Amino acid sequence: MALIVQKYGGTSVGTPERIRNVARRVLETQKAGHQVIAVVSAMSGVTDGLLKLAKDVSESPTEREMDVLLSTGEQQTIALTAMAINAQGGKAVSLTGAQAGIQTDGVHTKARIANITPTEVHEMLDEGNIVILAGFQGQTRDGLITTLGRGGSDLTAIAMAAAVKADLCQIYTDVDGVYTCDPRVVPTAQKIDVISYDEMLEMASSGSKVMQSRSVEFAKKFGVRFEVRNSMNNNPGTLVKEEELGMESVVVRGVSLERNQAKITIDDVPDRPGVAAKIFGAIHKAGVVIDMIVQNVSWDNETDISFTLSAADLPKAESALQAVLAELGDKVELRSQTGVAKLSIVGIGMRSHSGVASKMFGALANAGINIQMISTSEIKTAVTVEEREIEKAAKVVHEAFGLDGAAPTA
Ligand code: ASP
Ligand code: MG
Repeated sequence: MALIVQKYGGTSVGTPERIRNVARRVLETQKAGHQVIAVVSAMSGVTDGLLKLAKDVSESPTEREMDVLLSTGEQQTIALTAMAINAQGGKAVSLTGAQAGIQTDGVHTKARIANITPTEVHEMLDEGNIVILAGFQGQTRDGLITTLGRGGSDLTAIAMAAAVKADLCQIYTDVDGVYTCDPRVVPTAQKIDVISYDEMLEMASSGSKVMQSRSVEFAKKFGVRFEVRNSMNNNPGTLVKEEELGMESVVVRGVSLERNQAKITIDDVPDRPGVAAKIFGAIHKAGVVIDMIVQNVSWDNETDISFTLSAADLPKAESALQAVLAELGDKVELRSQTGVAKLSIVGIGMRSHSGVASKMFGALANAGINIQMISTSEIKTAVTVEEREIEKAAKVVHEAFGLDGAAPTA
């Protein structure tokens, strides 16, 4: 008998029919002789709907009340899922985050899990129940309801798996697993069988969002292996785990792309201490998250700084920068460009293989695609290109690294 944690995301429980499907799957797992904890998200669209309702009644709702509101989405799903299981002849109980012993800090709407005391969970399992656990929520030591940030049900599943020392943690979603590239862009992309935590994190930060990054970081920290699988079929998924020997033999695990980027360049800034701090201090104060930063080698005590950001944040960033430009000398000039996209290749094998960057750049060159900016980390090489060329760029790079499988026939 194994103890299995399964997590079903919003689309997997998006309709009554899909909830019955989840109930069936959970029951089958129990019938195969296992104990099951099923973590569920709010039905798809529900959290967004609640956020909108809050906006409709208040311009700036307090975060305490926001959590009281948002946590109701998952509370609906746990009750419905438990009802569906009971209706199918099984025995299930629902537990809120608080009832399951998930204690968090008091940072409303993005609380961190402080500890988990799963006494009730164990009792319920030992009585033969399937435990249906509300994702995305917990409570403070003082009993206030908290939520864990968007996508936080993933974190609930991983953290609960760690707390009960589950034998298996399965994250069910609406795709078969993690792919070598977005199959809508590169139809020959293949499902990845095994991926390391670090690769998964880099893929997520480069636009391949299958899971909340925080939960992958948590899994890495506590060594929780998990599988990403499809809730609509029984195909094998992607196993996410610690690195091990042999994993480095694959140089590039995947290619990911991020659209709707923008680029800001500040020309002719004085090359002296404090300038970058001033620029990025202003950006930070405006609450804008930036990505690639490139500073040129300086000549004549002047340099250029470029960085990328989400195109949606461009107006905010520009007005924040206008306010400090005057302090940076009279020659400085600010230029910005939208229609930029980022292409990244990710793989732990990059650490031990040479020629990876040149192969990527060569593939882009052969396709006549101009590279605007380049940045690298130990296991990632990223470039920005014109947005209209991103799909072609993804295809040629995917092919250059031998990631193509057979094109789907259907
Ligand atoms: N319902 C929450 C959200 O939509 C949490 C989750 O689905 O993981 O972000
Ligand atoms: Mg989700």
